Amino acid sequence: MKDETKCLHSGYHPKNSEPRVMPIVQSTTYVYDSTAEVASVFDEPTKSLIYSRFANPTVMAVEQKIAELEGGVGAMCTSSGQAANLLAILNICKAGDSFISATEIYGGTVNLFWFTLKKLGIECIAVSTDADEETIEKAFKPNTKAVFGETLANPALTVFDIEKFAKIAHKHNVPLIMDNTFATPVLCKPFEFGCDIVTHSTTKYMDGHAVQGGGVIVDSGNFDWTKGNFPELTEPDESYHGIVYTEVYGKAAYIIKARMQLMRDFGCYPAAHSAFLLNLGLETLAVRMKQYCENALTVAKYLEANDKVESVAYPGLESDKYHELAKKYLKGCSGVISFVIKGGRETAMKFMDSLELASNEVHVADIRTCVLHPASETHRQLTDEQLAAAGINGGMVRLSVGLENIDDILADLDKGFAAVD
Ligand SMILES: *Cc1c(COP(=O)(O)O)cnc(C)c1O
Repeated sequence: MKDETKCLHSGYHPKNSEPRVMPIVQSTTYVYDSTAEVASVFDEPTKSLIYSRFANPTVMAVEQKIAELEGGVGAMCTSSGQAANLLAILNICKAGDSFISATEIYGGTVNLFWFTLKKLGIECIAVSTDADEETIEKAFKPNTKAVFGETLANPALTVFDIEKFAKIAHKHNVPLIMDNTFATPVLCKPFEFGCDIVTHSTTKYMDGHAVQGGGVIVDSGNFDWTKGNFPELTEPDESYHGIVYTEVYGKAAYIIKARMQLMRDFGCYPAAHSAFLLNLGLETLAVRMKQYCENALTVAKYLEANDKVESVAYPGLESDKYHELAKKYLKGCSGVISFVIKGGRETAMKFMDSLELASNEVHVADIRTCVLHPASETHRQLTDEQLAAAGINGGMVRLSVGLENIDDILADLDKGFAAVD
C-alpha cells in the first residue's frame, strides 16, 4: 500500500459486524478466566494485554499504523515527543555511556540531552550537522552508544545528511536515531537511507489539529545489536525473568525491550482517547503534507522577494544551503519557515502583532498558520550574545504555514509588512 492508503487503513482491520472506526478502549485492565491464565500472560506479555500502563488496543492500532508508514518492525507510542526521545536514548545508554547528537535540534531536546541526561550520568557529545566525516569520527569515544539528529531541524531547518551519519555510526557498531517530526514519514522515510530508529513528536503534523500531545519510537529492525556494544539486549534481563531480548524477539528486540522494561517502569504511555485523536490526524496526514509543502514554498518565495526580509531558511528554496540534501532525502520541506526581518527584535514583534489570521502561539506544524518569536519566547532566557551563538537573531520569526487558502495567508503577511514601514 502507498502512504495515502496506509494512513486510512493500516493498524485496524474490523472483522464481520465490528465498528468501522477504531474504538476507544477506555479500560485500564483486561479480564481472564482464571488465575492460571493471568499467570501465563506474564510469560508472553507481548501476546496478550495486561495493563494499560504499557499496552492498550487503541494505542497499539496507532502504533501499527505508524510502524507501517515508516517501514519499521514495530512502534511504541509515548505521552509526548520528549518522552519518545528520552526512552529512545535510555533504551541503549546508561550512566557512564555517551552518545553523539547534532547540535541543530529542538530546544526541548537540547535541555534533555545536555542538562537532564547529564545529571543521569549520560554524556551527549555535540557535533554540527555540517561536520565532515573526519570530525564526526573524532567525536566517538569507546563508550559511545548512538548517534542522533533531526531530519529537518526545528527551528534551524537544516537537513540532516542521513547516509553520512549512518555510515559512520555503523562503522562504530552503534545505531543512528533520528527525530523525523517535521518531515513525517510522508516526506522522508529515514530507514530507507540507513537510519535504525526513528522518533516523533506526534503533537505536530501527525496530529495536526493541536488536540493531543504525544510521541512515538519506531524500530527499523535492521540494526544488529549482537556485536558486543549492547549487553542489555543480548544478556539476560534480571527484571524480566532472565529474558534475552535479541534471542526471544529477534528483529524487534529494541522496541520490545523499550515497552517491557522502560514503559513498564516509567509509565509515560498515552491514553486511549489521545490515540484515537491522533489517529484522526494520521488519516489525512499524506494529503495534508502535500498542501503544507505547496503553501510554504509559495510563502518562502514571497518572503525571499520581499525587501523587508533579511534572510529566509526553507530548504525548498533553490538558494537554500540545504537544497541539494533536501532534494536527496525529502519529498517536500514541510510548512515551517524561519526568516529574519530587517530591523531586529522590535520590528519582528510589531510585524507579528499586526498579523490577524496567523496566531501567536507556542506551537508549530498546526493545521492553522501560526507564528512564534524565538528570541522573546522559547529562547527568552538567553542574552543577545547567547542568542547569536545559538543561531537565533532578534529579528527571527518562525512561521508555521497552515492549510488556509494561500491568498489569505499572503494577504495577512502583507498586513504585517505594511505595519513595519
Ligand atoms: C516539539 C518537538 C519535540 C517535543 O515534542 P513534545 O510532543 O512537545 O514533547 C521533539 N522534537 C521535535 C523536532 C519537536 O518539534
